[in-house]
Formats: sequence, C-alpha cells, structure tokens
Amino acid sequence: VTTSFAPPTDPFGTEAGLPEEIRELRREVRSYLERKVAPLVDEAERTHRFPVEILPALYDFGYVRGAVPESEGGYGMDYLGLAVLMEEAGRCWGSLRVHMNIQTMVAVLLANNGTPEQKARYLAPVLAGERRGFFALTESESGSDAGAMHSTAVRGTDEQGEHFRLNGTKLYITNASTGDFGLVFARVPETDSGGGVSAFIVDSRESDYTVSEIPHLAMRAATSCEVVFDDTRVPAGNLVGTIGRGLGTAMAGVNVGRLNMSMGAVGIMQACYDAAAEHAMTRQQFGRTIAGFQLVQQMVVRIAALAHTGRLVGYQAARTMDAGGDARLACSMAKMYCAESVNEAATLALQVYGGSGLMEGTVVERLFRDAREATIPEGTTQIQLLHIGRALLGVSAFR
Ligand SMILES: Cc1cc2nc3c(=O)[nH]c(=O)nc-3n(C[C@H](O)[C@H](O)[C@H](O)COP(=O)(O)OP(=O)(O)OC[C@H]3O[C@@H](n4cnc5c(N)ncnc54)[C@H](O)[C@@H]3O)c2cc1C
Repeated sequence: VTTSFAPPTDPFGTEAGLPEEIRELRREVRSYLERKVAPLVDEAERTHRFPVEILPALYDFGYVRGAVPESEGGYGMDYLGLAVLMEEAGRCWGSLRVHMNIQTMVAVLLANNGTPEQKARYLAPVLAGERRGFFALTESESGSDAGAMHSTAVRGTDEQGEHFRLNGTKLYITNASTGDFGLVFARVPETDSGGGVSAFIVDSRESDYTVSEIPHLAMRAATSCEVVFDDTRVPAGNLVGTIGRGLGTAMAGVNVGRLNMSMGAVGIMQACYDAAAEHAMTRQQFGRTIAGFQLVQQMVVRIAALAHTGRLVGYQAARTMDAGGDARLACSMAKMYCAESVNEAATLALQVYGGSGLMEGTVVERLFRDAREATIPEGTTQIQLLHIGRALLGVSAFR
C-alpha cells in the first residue's frame, strides 16, 4: 500500500461532459476560493460572523449577478454555469453557499417583479454587493404550509403618504440580522380573496422592526433570525408585484433556490470525499494505511458514488431549466436526492476520520453539521417527495 497515490481528478467523466467555458469557470472560481476564502473559514465559524467584504469580488464570477438577465444589470448566465458556481461554493464552505443563495433569490425576485424605482434602489445595489437583502416567508405556525401565515399588512394614509402597517413575526429568517432590507410576505385583508399574501420591501433605513438571532447547529457563519413587525410602517411604493399574489411571486423563484441548495449539497459531498480519501490514504492502523482495508474503501467509494449521482441529478435539473421547460419536478428531485445523500456522505466521512471527526475544528465535523441543514429549508425532503408523488400519481397528498 502506498501513501503517495493521488486520486484521479475526473474518475467518472462528468467534468469532461461540461462545455469548456464552464470547466474554465470552475477552475478559476475554485482556485480563487481556495486562495482567498478557505483561509477565512475557521475564524468565521468560530466567531459566527461572515466576512461580507468578500462578496463583491465573488459576484464578478457570476454569483448572484449570473441569475439576473443582462437587461436588468446581471450577467444572464445559464443555469448549468450557476450550478457549478454553487457546487464550488458548497465545496469551499456551506455558509458561503447560504449567502449566495439568499442574495440570488432576492435579486431574482426583484428583477422579475420590481418596479423601475425598486430596481434602482434595491436590485442595483444588491448586484453591486453594496446592500444585502433577506427573504422572510415562514412563521412559527406556517413553515411547510407557508400560505397559512398570520402576518398582516393593512393599508393606511398619514402625513407622509400612503403606506402599509405590518404586524407579525417571521421565524428562521436567514441573515435578517445582517441584511439591509427584507422581502417580507404578509396577508393583505383588503384583497378580493379576503387575505391574499403580498410581498413588501421592508428597508431598515426607513422602517422599524426587531431582529434577534437564534443559535443554531449548521452554517455557523450565517444567522437564523426571528423578525418582529409591530405596526411597522412600510411605504406603499414598497409593495412588490401584484397585491394578493405574493405567494406566486415567492414560489416563482423556488426552482432557483432548490437547484442552488442541491448543488451546494453536491459541493459538500465532494468535500467529504476529498477529506475522507485523503485521511484514508494517510492514517495508519495495524501497520498500514486504512485505505487498504476493504471496509474503509466501501465508505470512500460510497461517498464518491453519492457525490457523482447527486451531481448528475443536479446538472440535469439545471439543463432542464436552461431548456426552458417545466423544471419543477427536476428541481424537487435534485433537492430531495442531494439533501438526503449529503447526510449519508457526511456521516461516512466522519466515520472514516474516526474519533478526530467528532472534534471541533476538523473539516468533517463542519461538513457533518452543514450537511444536516440540507433537508429542511426550501421545502423539506417530505415536501419535495409529495410534489414528486403528486406529479407522478396525479393525486395530491397535501390537502
Ligand atoms: C437553516 C434554516 C434557514 C431558513 N431560512 C429561511 C429563510 O431565509 N426565509 C424563510 O422564509 N424561511 C426560512 N427557513 C424556514 C424553512 O423554510 C422552514 O423551516 C421549512 O419550510 C420547514 O418548516 P418548519 O420548520 O415549520 O417545519 P414543519 O413544516 O413544521 O415540518 C415539520 C416536519 O413535518 C413534515 N411535514 C410537514 N408537512 C408535511 C406534509 N404535508 N406531509 C408530510 N410531512 C410533512 C416536514 O417535512 C418536517 O419533517 C429556514 C429554515 C432553516 C432551518
């Protein structure tokens, strides 16, 4: 058994199947992340603070800007390229993928639904990396069933003009404590349906709301927040999209979010493989490297297989989106498969590490924590499964 063996770089030929410009993009972004971002990870995880100053340079690669059309100030990249960017973000650092995902969702929603004034005030600074948004949909009583929210927005007029008064509490909102404004969803009782949901830009510079951070397990350099709106005044011009159609507005960006999370999970699986293979080839027990034991090989090969199949499912979802077809099923399948797979991969990588894998500061300990997030936001595994089941069987299990 030799310890100088280096694993093949593209053992299953997936990379060879990508267009050259996307392979080049991966090489460039991976090299940049390894040099400029990876050295910051340990400190940021320890202090629970994300170095936001790194964001604009990363947007130059196509993060956030890539998902927005050129006509709206973005790069208008295809989804396969965006998928590879998210994969590399996940491979480097789960919290980085979270930041990119939230800003992408905010930017896409504003690009698709914002007025020219809203785009000038919010989309342009987001794309420049000057301001950051958060996305506030779920509440304590409405998680998977997001439409059952209680928050309200009631129209009124005062000396400053027409406005809405927001009341309600949003829960588990990523990066609300570090964001400059939120895309907030609330019921508007005046709408025909007697309470259709609408989307609002709530700007911390002009509206009062309270944010508290909730300590959490995964993605330590992102924050999970409770956001309380107590008669919060929001100018009427901050209504986004059609009044009463806010849930449709929120769900229109759901495929991008699910694809991003799937590819972030693929990146974590690749990082699990990198770490497990390296450890297996260098750790000695019983007078030989543990990579020589068949049971250790089984774990490493299983991680490689999960990363490989997750990558294929994720790229297929991206290609479906690029083809302009209905990608909901492909994105749900990718989210369900990659989220479950990354948990198995991270468990196995930790096992390959033995006791050291449970110690804070080892890479697999972070990967294990970050992997656990994948099955919950952007629709839990069970919710994805029910979407797929409804499409395949023609029967809805929701209601
Ligand atoms: C780390 C993190 C970040 C998040 N970021 C944001 C954010 O930025 N913005 C935002 O708006 N929200 C965010 N969320 C909220 C997230 O979208 C919800 O947590 C998620 O949708 C699940 O809702 P819930 O937690 O209320 O769980 P519940 O809906 O209460 O689900 C509990 C369990 O029941 C299952 N379940 C529920 N309904 C069904 C059903 N019909 N059939 C079968 N099983 C079912 C679920 O799969 C789950 O296993 C975040 C959550 C987390 C954990």
